[in-house]
Amino acid sequence: RAKKDGRNAYRFFTSEMQAQSARALQLENALRRAQERNQLSLHYQPQFALDAQGESHIVGAEALLRWNHPELGWVSPAEFIPIAESSGLILPIGEWVLREALSQLRRWDAAGLPELTMAVNLSAVQFRHDDLPELVGRVLEEVGMPAERLELELTEGAAMDNPAVAITVMNELHARGVQLSIDDFGTGYSSLSYLKKFRVSKLKIDQSFVRDLTDDAEDRAIVDAVIRMASALGLETLAEGVETEGQLAFLRRQGCQSVQGYLFSRPLPAEAFAQFVLARTIPISAY
Ligand code: C2E
Ligand code: MG
Ligand code: MG
Ligand code: MG
Repeated sequence: RAKKDGRNAYRFFTSEMQAQSARALQLENALRRAQERNQLSLHYQPQFALDAQGESHIVGAEALLRWNHPELGWVSPAEFIPIAESSGLILPIGEWVLREALSQLRRWDAAGLPELTMAVNLSAVQFRHDDLPELVGRVLEEVGMPAERLELELTEGAAMDNPAVAITVMNELHARGVQLSIDDFGTGYSSLSYLKKFRVSKLKIDQSFVRDLTDDAEDRAIVDAVIRMASALGLETLAEGVETEGQLAFLRRQGCQSVQGYLFSRPLPAEAFAQFVLARTIPISAY
């Protein structure tokens, strides 16, 4: 009996798995051609610095990858990034993201936007790849952008996967002048003792702690502790996923330096981003 149940359970499990892996395989095949077929694009979400006067200023953009497939429609990065990672496609795609984001930054400079930094997400697979610092240096030079304008976002998982290697790669990137931040901070398992060894300048507080900030005392305690610890270590903090004035007020009060979220803007196509920035930075008298 047990054997029979077991077999049924097994069969059910495999059909679930088959459906999942069929979709994954379909996506992987489609992703292989996505780049050459111009289905990939970047959206940009503005990042704001909070000042002591209670104002906010656009200081940067985060590049977020978008995939629009003719039949499948928009596929979420949460679904296709893991597939790009397991198939190795993240290497050519990640290189394209880096080049495209920095080229866009140059076009914005030429269009008269204020000097922004460009934050680019890095996968653990790219981070582990031998020639990452060299690749980054080459792309910066090719595009003609100083290294200081680039910020690479790394998750805790990517850094903690092999801390010794992470420290070496971070040192090399730092030596080239590139800034580094830890993305989704608080959701991984970074040992706090490593934070002082990692060459990062910023912690991005994960949106899961920001979401319920106004009604959850524990989330408030965590966010407060992260900001204090970061400040004691000489690190900046940026809160992700800020959607309400209440969240913003708390973050400002606790001394969080910068924010990003739907309260200010969703990620936007390049042209809309430029319009958004120009509308906010050109004084009214200039119109
Ligand atoms: P992430 O780097 O932590 O990016 C933040 C995500 O939160 C983005 O989702 C963004 O659209 C979303 N977001 C921003 N503000 C708000 C808000 O106020 N409320 C809510 N609910 N969400 C907000 P997205 O674009 O779907 O990207 C998801 C993840 O996919 C990213 O998380 C990042 O880990 C990964 N990803 C995106 N682009 C790239 C890329 O070029 N390379 C790599 N390796 N990963 C990428
Ligand atoms: Mg990010
Ligand atoms: Mg994040
Ligand atoms: Mg994330």
